[in-house]
Amino acid sequence: MTHQAAIALGQTLRVLAAGPDDPAAAVSADVVIGDHSDLDDLRVAARGSDAFTFDHEQVPTEHLDVLVAEGVNVQPPPTALIYAQDKLRMREKLRSLSIPVPAFAEVTSVADVTDFGSAHGWPVVLKAIRGGYDGRGVWMLDDADQARETVEQQLAAGVPLLVEQKVDMARELSAMVARSPFGQGATWPVVETVQRRGQCAVAIAPAPGLSDDTAADAEHLALRIASELGVVGVMAVELFETPTGRLLVNELAMRPHNSGHWSMDGARTSQFEQHLRAVLDYPLGDCAPLAPVTVMANVLGAPTAPTMSMDERVHHLFARMPDAKVHLYGKGERADRKIGHVNVLGAASGSANDAEYVAAVRERAERAAHWLSHAEWTDGWDHHDG
Ligand code: ADP
Repeated sequence: MTHQAAIALGQTLRVLAAGPDDPAAAVSADVVIGDHSDLDDLRVAARGSDAFTFDHEQVPTEHLDVLVAEGVNVQPPPTALIYAQDKLRMREKLRSLSIPVPAFAEVTSVADVTDFGSAHGWPVVLKAIRGGYDGRGVWMLDDADQARETVEQQLAAGVPLLVEQKVDMARELSAMVARSPFGQGATWPVVETVQRRGQCAVAIAPAPGLSDDTAADAEHLALRIASELGVVGVMAVELFETPTGRLLVNELAMRPHNSGHWSMDGARTSQFEQHLRAVLDYPLGDCAPLAPVTVMANVLGAPTAPTMSMDERVHHLFARMPDAKVHLYGKGERADRKIGHVNVLGAASGSANDAEYVAAVRERAERAAHWLSHAEWTDGWDHHDG
């Protein structure tokens, strides 16, 4: 998806990929096959580049420090990226900036968790400090017994851990911003993300019914974090909104993010284009939405892949919903795996504060995504009758 944007900007991308079948490698003319944790592979990928950037956060910052010392223009710089890699350092940093985060503590023993549970109440949330994604590396612990079992297991496996308060939340939001080395900032409307089984399933842009004040607070918060941390590129600030309208920061992602996929069709400038503009220090693009609401629904692999080919599923979807914008990632189908997404834009006459209108757009996006993964229409529609 970044490549599509690079072409339009007249840029060429070299991709470091683990194998030739990686989706990014499959669409790139210039591919280095290698390991993102191997310094020499990173050096080969970086050679001659104007800018060096990421589509995930797992590249060791000590290697990036070496690249920076060797003159590579690494964006976001490792001094910022570390806060997207290390959940404990991120929380400590944000707390030092008086930015609200859930109560948390580092965990080096079972007692750290049971003490935290006694002090803050159960359940608590245990997290791997590094390497978690899509809910992997997150454990909800109901009581001290459960804590003992899980913490012992993870500590024995050498996983560095933190514990935090389970937040009573009304919903999850994501504030997506971009920042350039020049210091320019840009924000998209704050979106609501809907999680299923620990991973994002749907994003609604803008978050329905969000007050102007809370939306502005979230955007300012995200811009401030980008500036304080020296982020370059796009960044998603994942937020919890409490029932009283308080915002707490859950996570930072310094790359194009699932919560920004709606912008590919729903905003004047997509997150992928903006990321490239930012890392190249171009002036940033207009983030204005193109519809009162855009809903992005992830195509999450069905428990068993349908016998109908994806090609045929796409064909039927397009016959029924000419307005659905489909983005497939070229990945094999596995249960709950993100293999693509669908964006649906609401009609210009609607409003994000009209719950019925938003629900109708959301239903269409989810129906389309479910069809693509399951070859089943959620409303029982039969294309032979339709
Ligand atoms: P990952 O890095 O795997 O995305 P997250 O920290 O975002 O992990 O957690 C995944 C999901 O778990 C979140 O989107 C949220 O639904 C839930 N979650 C995480 N932390 C908390 C918390 N402190 N309180 C309540 N729910 C949480």
